[in-house]
Amino acid sequence: MRTLPRGASDLKSIRLWYWVGGLFAFAAAGILLGWGHEGESVGPLTLFLAWGLIGLAGEVGTLLLALRHPPAPRIPQHARPADGEVGLARVTGASGEPNPFDPRYRRFEQWEQENAAGTSPASLGPSRPPPLLGRVAWISLFIGRDGRSWSDSAIAEAHASLRRAGVWIEREAMRWNAPVNVELAETYFVTEDETPEDVVIGFQREGEHEGPLERDAVTKALVGMSRAAARLGFRDGADMVASVNQRVDADAHVWLVHPLRAGRSLAVPLDQTELAGVSLAVCYAREESFPEPLTKPPYTDSATVAHELLHLFGATDKYGVPLRSFPAQTVTARDIMRLSQSSLSRLRIDPLTADEIGWTREA
Ligand SMILES: [Zn+2]
Repeated sequence: MRTLPRGASDLKSIRLWYWVGGLFAFAAAGILLGWGHEGESVGPLTLFLAWGLIGLAGEVGTLLLALRHPPAPRIPQHARPADGEVGLARVTGASGEPNPFDPRYRRFEQWEQENAAGTSPASLGPSRPPPLLGRVAWISLFIGRDGRSWSDSAIAEAHASLRRAGVWIEREAMRWNAPVNVELAETYFVTEDETPEDVVIGFQREGEHEGPLERDAVTKALVGMSRAAARLGFRDGADMVASVNQRVDADAHVWLVHPLRAGRSLAVPLDQTELAGVSLAVCYAREESFPEPLTKPPYTDSATVAHELLHLFGATDKYGVPLRSFPAQTVTARDIMRLSQSSLSRLRIDPLTADEIGWTREA
């Protein structure tokens, strides 16, 4: 469906012929004409330099062209069209109790075969976000905080929210004709964390405004994940991600961390992570500007989940700046990365965001 653009392969063979053909020509000329004698070599040398310089200019031009037009994202093999249904992703070898409120999902207890887990090192993988294509498995880690634990019913409700976000992404994928299939892992992970965390407030530019923001939120998210992973028997966050990912058959694995606190949800894409191969979205149980204990029942917001998830696949924020600052007809007020609506049914993926997540580049 999408292949290497033909222009790119033509360019490649032209460059190859230029360099290889040129070298042969010079070698042949050298043998035939016996150049290299003093005084006679100035002409051929000038020609040789000119050939090298023209070739170099061509290479620089090609490089600039490649930078301006990144290659089309590779569509995973066997990718099926989006069908608007969110499936279940098996976590091979995991055992645990089914959730009494939604027995499709179960809480991780242990691996059926001990020592099979945690042996593979975290793969370094790509250091930039992958396209949102193929089978995408969402794996959840629930972390109790402030002396409270996630209840089975709250976890079942959170899964219902994730499912809504997944259905929305698949429907948008159908609209864009992008082969995407969202699957929720049937095994989820639960633990508690009582490590106190200081909240340091800094300021960060958001579009045209400067707003208060928790400092070091990304580092804290990664450290928090590693603490949770250690309590669950893994070496650290990278080990947990590598061990579980290899047991879930999917083209892309997404980790959703759910702290039982209020706070500001955030995404840590692969290019921002400090742990090899780890990218995750932190979905707070209530949206607030800063982390604080929950005072209301937990509520995982589907629109926020979808927004943060798209960050993991390269989508950028589009709020805080006027719509006219984007190229015409690429972003509307309804774009999910603008978040000016709170209901998923009123949000959509506009052309610029679709392009960022690899949904538009046709050959
Ligand atoms: Zn965002």
